[in-house]
Amino acid sequence: MKLVTNARLAGRDGLHDIEIDGDRFGRVAPAAEPGGGPAADVLVDAAGGLVSPPFVEPHVHLDTTLTAGEPRWNASGSLWEGIAVWSERKATLTRDDVIARATEVLRWYAANGVLHVRSHVDVTDPGLVALDAMLEVRERVKDVIGLQLVAFPQEGVCSFDDGAELLEEAARRGVDAVGAIPHFEDTREDGVRSLEIAFDVAQRYGLLLDAHCDEIDDEQSRFVEVLATLARRGGLQGRATASHTTAMGSYNGAYSYKLQRILARSGVNLVCNPLANLCLQGRFDAHPKRRGLTQVKEMLAAGVNVAFGHDDVMDPWFPLGTASPLQVALVGIAAAQLTGAAEIDEAFAMVTDRAARVLGLGDGYGIAPGRPANLVVLPASSPYDAVRRQTRPSHVIARGRVVAETPPAVTRLTWPGRAPEDVDFVRARDRDPGRS
Ligand SMILES: [Zn+2]
Repeated sequence: MKLVTNARLAGRDGLHDIEIDGDRFGRVAPAAEPGGGPAADVLVDAAGGLVSPPFVEPHVHLDTTLTAGEPRWNASGSLWEGIAVWSERKATLTRDDVIARATEVLRWYAANGVLHVRSHVDVTDPGLVALDAMLEVRERVKDVIGLQLVAFPQEGVCSFDDGAELLEEAARRGVDAVGAIPHFEDTREDGVRSLEIAFDVAQRYGLLLDAHCDEIDDEQSRFVEVLATLARRGGLQGRATASHTTAMGSYNGAYSYKLQRILARSGVNLVCNPLANLCLQGRFDAHPKRRGLTQVKEMLAAGVNVAFGHDDVMDPWFPLGTASPLQVALVGIAAAQLTGAAEIDEAFAMVTDRAARVLGLGDGYGIAPGRPANLVVLPASSPYDAVRRQTRPSHVIARGRVVAETPPAVTRLTWPGRAPEDVDFVRARDRDPGRS
């Protein structure tokens, strides 16, 4: 039995010790008095830092990652030019190329404390090169990261030759979820049909569903209502997700109100990707330029589960990124105006608990007896503090093993009239280790 000691847990007073028995959690109990308890095998002393279940990435494209500038930069910055650039790069894909890039970014995720990742994989490729490579990656990383793969038809289901057959073949080869891209299909009818095909495949193979849905600044793009209705009528409540949903940023008030009810009843999850979509959307607007994002605040208030995703890490759609969920949360707070104290906590949940719901992790997630021993230790006093100071975890524990350690970054400041001293950006009252 090993212990993570002196852990600060969200929603609980005081500090706690967490037992780890093999790759599972044991009991969680108030921290022992110094020198008072039996000599325990301390795995990590959290020293009053915030201990959280690991971060969860609900939406990334690992097959396209680390390709920004190949074979050319996305000069206009639009989603559409990004798809065209990727189509050129896709022609040169090899299995080793995909495995190397995806693995590198998964290493970044683990270092940042992300131990569950959902990656979309482009299956509009007759050779399914990226899919076979990613199935191999999923197997190789499973002792550290739980990787879900979504069959993503980047160039369409009905509008791409053999699109429906490729989607089904991906299901046969072992993806976790089926995707779609209805707003990209040539006609409205093809968009609806593509969702029907995706739901049919998901149901026949017992898979989850996660569609890129309405990622366009067109207020007429309303496929999320179709997705939600198919989910509800098909009994896929809680198992279906609409990602991006940026057209929502352009819907009028009356339709938005109607949509909130449809989505809440359907139990579908929404994933907002603020880094990528703040960059991609509004590219065809003169001023004023729309934000082009999911109605995060409104949908949360309506009882819809919403999570934040990274979407792209250095690819034709977003050229930056370090696979940091706290960076996504910070930008998401600014983009969706989640500045209330409870809303900032909610933004932290959107890269932890709420994202775990998107992946359907259930009892496979959370710090409780019997669950997989996955956690992060953040040198922070609260979720608010972790988001504000963008603290990388001091320790990441996966399946009971420490897989990443980050020493604190220290800046020494020489200030007029004062001796040189360290600056940690913490207010004096937040340094009190007894503060809960
Ligand atoms: Zn995406």
